[in-house]
Amino acid sequence: MHTTLKLPTGSAGGCLEAVLEVQKLQFDLFDDRYEVIERVSAKSRNIRIEVRSPREVVLVIPRHAPKYAARDFLKSREGWIQQKIAEMRQRHADAPLDPQRLNWDNRDRIPLRGIDLPLRVVSTSMRNISVRVDDEAISVFSPSAQLGDRTKLQRVLVQELQRQARQDAQRMMNEEAARLGIRVGEPRIGDQKTLWGSCAADGGISLSWRLVMAPPAVFRYVVIHELCHIKHHDHSDAFWALVEQQMPDFDTHRTWLRDQGARLHLYLPSSRSAN
Ligand SMILES: [Zn+2]
Repeated sequence: MHTTLKLPTGSAGGCLEAVLEVQKLQFDLFDDRYEVIERVSAKSRNIRIEVRSPREVVLVIPRHAPKYAARDFLKSREGWIQQKIAEMRQRHADAPLDPQRLNWDNRDRIPLRGIDLPLRVVSTSMRNISVRVDDEAISVFSPSAQLGDRTKLQRVLVQELQRQARQDAQRMMNEEAARLGIRVGEPRIGDQKTLWGSCAADGGISLSWRLVMAPPAVFRYVVIHELCHIKHHDHSDAFWALVEQQMPDFDTHRTWLRDQGARLHLYLPSSRSAN
């Protein structure tokens, strides 16, 4: 993310992306330290601020622009910088550092109801693979002969997460349907790649089991969204007004899904039929 100060256009000469000078400054703003890296660029025509990370802000200065102008611009955008840093921090706090498929090496972490939990694989003398979920960890107990069978471990883990998703979905649907004054049946729990939820013409509601990994308010938002479609079969203003009435801060959760939802598909490959 960046912000730009347009300079009067003049010939900057050449089009090499050359970094002529890099200088680091330490800034203290709002008691929050971050580093400003000044980069003089032969190619840039405008002064630009890039927030690279919560601790690293790059000030790009065109070769012919005076430095004081760039620093004044930086100062004038302090509020904007702070806001971008806060947004980034929030996103970092929500996201595990390096989401990826599971390695089954007792170092994996999986989010459940918005909280990152360690995934433990424990050898057991029991005959079948089983999963236990508690506040501290997700533990997969496996007969030693099957410890190396990732596909099987994964299948049992997904089944358990789907079971948890179904419980959460049913509970939230009952609660939210009551608040809306409608009757609902059981949700279908699926694993659609592109949809988090859907509402059929007959009122049947499908939800992605992966929502159980998201913060509960995000799951609840999807439930409310689909239930509101029972009253409004479209995305009209009336529909969104109803969603907002049921969940005034729904937009936060909608944004979370848009920004982070794809991550929920990274941990465990999709299975064909989840229901
Ligand atoms: Zn919708």
